[in-house]
Amino acid sequence: MKDSIIKKFYIGGLDAELFTPFTISSGSHRSLENVIFTLESAGGIKGFGEAAIATHITGETRAGTVKSLRRAGGLLAGRDAANYLGAMCLLEEALEGNRAALAGAQMALLDLICRIQGVSLWRFFGARVPKLKTDVTVVIGDAAAAYDFTVKMRGRGFRIFKVKTGSDMDEDFRRLEAVKKAAPGAAIYLDANCAYSAAGAGKFIKELARRGIRPEVLEQPVPKDDIDGLAWLSRRLPMPVCADESAYSLDDVFNLIKKKAVTAINIKLTKLGFLRAREVWALARAKGLKLMMGEMVESELASAAAAQFAGGLGGFDFIDLDIPFFIRNSGMTGASFLSRDGVYSLDRVKAGIGIAPGAKK
Ligand SMILES: [Mg+2]
Repeated sequence: MKDSIIKKFYIGGLDAELFTPFTISSGSHRSLENVIFTLESAGGIKGFGEAAIATHITGETRAGTVKSLRRAGGLLAGRDAANYLGAMCLLEEALEGNRAALAGAQMALLDLICRIQGVSLWRFFGARVPKLKTDVTVVIGDAAAAYDFTVKMRGRGFRIFKVKTGSDMDEDFRRLEAVKKAAPGAAIYLDANCAYSAAGAGKFIKELARRGIRPEVLEQPVPKDDIDGLAWLSRRLPMPVCADESAYSLDDVFNLIKKKAVTAINIKLTKLGFLRAREVWALARAKGLKLMMGEMVESELASAAAAQFAGGLGGFDFIDLDIPFFIRNSGMTGASFLSRDGVYSLDRVKAGIGIAPGAKK
C-alpha cells in the first residue's frame, strides 16, 4: 500500500479545566470539552485536528460533532492524502452544517500532509510572519477581577487586552477603567458578542472616550443579523468595526463587504474551515479590510494551527489566540514555541502543527 494512503482514523474527547470560566455576554465555558480527530497514514504518520465546541455561540454539540467526524473518517479512509485538495473539498460539502467538525477534519488532514512532507503548517501557508503576539482576554466579571487579572497578565508581558463587554454597561465602564489603570498605555480591544443596539454601542464608545479610553477595535457590537447597524457604526466610529458572529460564512463576508458594513473581519477556522477561511482572507485583503485571527475555546493544538494559518498568510492586524493561557492542563505536547507572554514563534515549528495530544500528567 502507498505510504500516503489514509489508513485509519480515531476520534476522542479532549477535556480540560480552565483557570477561570471563559464568560462572554452570550454565555460561558466552564471547561474545555472538544473533540480530537486523528488520521493515520499507511506509512504510520499521524495528523491531528481539534473540533472546538461552542454550543452557546454556534449551536453545535459534542455528540453531533463526533457523528460528523465519524462520517469524515469514513469518507477519508482509503483515500490518498496526496490528493488532499480533493479530500478538503469533499469535507467542505459533507460537513457544511457542522463547521467545528469541518475545521477539525481539515486540520488533521493538513497536519498529516505537512508531516508527510516535513514542513510546518506555517511554511505550507506561506511563512510570511515568523512571530505573532496574541492579546489576552478579560472575561466578563466584576471590576476587581478585571483589575487583578490585568495586573497579573501585564506582569507576564501581555500588552493588548481584549475586554469582553455587554452584560452590564455601568460595570463595563468600571471594568475598562480598571484595565486602563492596571495596564497604562496598553492597547484595548472590545468585544460585545452581539450585546448592543447600534445606538447603544455608539453611546458606549462616546462615554468611553469621555473617560479617556479609546479601543483599537470594536468587535461585534450588535446582533449578527443587524447588518445596517454595523454599517451605521462603521460610518460613525473612528476605530475599525469588526464582524465576528456576523461573518460565519464566505457569503456573509461577501455581503458585509459589498454593503460596506464593516471595516474588519474576525476569521476563525471553527466558523469557516480552512478553505473558506483562506477565501475570506483573500477577499478582505483585496478590499482593504483589517483582519483579526480568532478562535473559540481551543487548546494549544487548534490555537497553534490558527496562528500558523495567520502567520503563514500574513496581513493580520489583530491576533486573538490566547485560550492556551486559560487551560489548566490539556495534555498537549510540543507547545514550547508559545511563550508565556503570548508570542507564537512559528519559525520554530518543525513539521505539521507541531503539537500532539499526549498522556495527561
Ligand atoms: Mg468575538
